[in-house]
Amino acid sequence: MTRSQNLAPEGDWVQEGWTHLSGLVDTDLPGWSRVGFSEQDVAGRDWVAQQMRQAGLTTRVDAVGNVIGMLEGTNPSAPAIVVGSHSDTVPGGGRFDGIVGVLGAIEVARTLRRAGIRPTHSLMVVDFANEEGNPQGVKLVGSRAAAGTLSATELAAADSEGTTLADLITGAGHQPDAVAGCRWKADDLAAYVELHIEQGPVMEEQGAEIGVVTRVCGISTFVLDIEGRRDHAGTTSMTKRSDPLCCAADGILAVQRIAAAGGDSVGTVGELTSASPLTNVIPETARLTGEFRSPELAGLKQLQAEFDAEAKVADSRHRTRSTVTWGHTDAPAIMDEQLSALAVRAASAAGHEAFRLYSGATHDSVEMSALAPSTMIFVPSRDGRSHCPEEWTDLADVERGIEVLTRTVLEADAAL
Ligand SMILES: [Zn+2]
Repeated sequence: MTRSQNLAPEGDWVQEGWTHLSGLVDTDLPGWSRVGFSEQDVAGRDWVAQQMRQAGLTTRVDAVGNVIGMLEGTNPSAPAIVVGSHSDTVPGGGRFDGIVGVLGAIEVARTLRRAGIRPTHSLMVVDFANEEGNPQGVKLVGSRAAAGTLSATELAAADSEGTTLADLITGAGHQPDAVAGCRWKADDLAAYVELHIEQGPVMEEQGAEIGVVTRVCGISTFVLDIEGRRDHAGTTSMTKRSDPLCCAADGILAVQRIAAAGGDSVGTVGELTSASPLTNVIPETARLTGEFRSPELAGLKQLQAEFDAEAKVADSRHRTRSTVTWGHTDAPAIMDEQLSALAVRAASAAGHEAFRLYSGATHDSVEMSALAPSTMIFVPSRDGRSHCPEEWTDLADVERGIEVLTRTVLEADAAL
C-alpha cells in the first residue's frame, strides 16, 4: 500500500446506500426511525446482507440478529480484523449514527476488491443488532451477545406492557434461546475498528476532519426508590410531611450538581414517577431513574458514592427513606494505543491530521474492546447534533472517514 494508491470510496455507492436506508424508516415515528428489531430494521439488515454478498463477502445472521460478512484472508488461520457499526436508530433519530460505519465497513470490502488487494487477515464486516437499546433498558444488544455479556436476566427484562427483550428478538425472526452461540472468541480476533459520526461539537469547533478516539465513556445507571408517607395534602403541615417527590427533586438537582463538578462527567435523569397523580394527596412513593457517565472508572465510582450520600441528605431533609439501586456499570473503554496510532498514520496517508478525542457517547466498541484491540474513527457532526432528525454529516466527510477506515484496516493487516 502506498500513499498514492487509490483507496478512496466510491462516493456514488455510499450516497445511494445512504439514500436507500434513509427510505427504510417507520413513518409513524418522528425523524428517521429504524428502531432495533422493527419491521424496518429487519428490512434494513436484509439490504445490508445483500450488499455484503455483492461485495464478495459470505454472510450469516446470528441468533441475536447480528449480520456478519466474511472475506477470507490469504492466511485463514490468522485472527480476523473486524469492521462495523449498527444500522438501527433511536426513535426520532437521524440518518448517520451507526449507518455511516456500516456503509463504510462494506465499502472497505468493495474498495479492496477494486484495488485488487486480498488482506492476510480475514476481514469481518458486522452490522450489530440493536445498538441503541429498547424500552426493556438494554443497549448494545448485538455486541454484548458477541462479547458474551448479554445475560438471561436482560433477555427476560420487560417493558411496561410485559414484552421482554427475548420477545423482541423472536419477533424479528431470531433465536434468543441460542444467544450463547453468538459469542466470539478473543483468539479469533486481531482488531476492531469502527467508523462513526462524532455526535458532539468538538471536531467542528476544532476544525478537525478526522478524529481518532482515545476512550469511550463509562456509564452507570441508577434507580432511586423513595418511600414517604401518604397523607392529606391539606391537613399535613409543611414541617411534618414526608414527601417523596421533594426528595426526588433534590435528587434531580444533585445529579446535575455532582456531574457538573467532575470534568468530563455528565449526569442525566430519565424518568420521575410518583404513586399518586393527585394534588390533594402526598404520595407514598416516588421513583427516579438516571445515569452518570465518566471517562474514568474511578470517576464513575466517585459519582456513585456522592449520589448515594446526597440521597441520604435528601432523606433527612424530607423525612423519607431512599434506596439507590445501581444497574450494570459499563466501564470506560480505553482504545488500543497501537491500533489508534495505525489509524492516525492511515489518516496522515490520506492527507489528514488526526485529532484525538474522548467519546461521551457509547458504542459497540465498548464491548469489542474486551475481545480485541479496538479503536474508532470519527467524522464531524454539524452543530454537534445527534439522536435527532437534524443529525448531519457532509458526504465528503463520510467519504474521508471511509478512506481512513480502509487504510487503517490495511495498516492493521500489515502490522498485527
Ligand atoms: Zn451509534
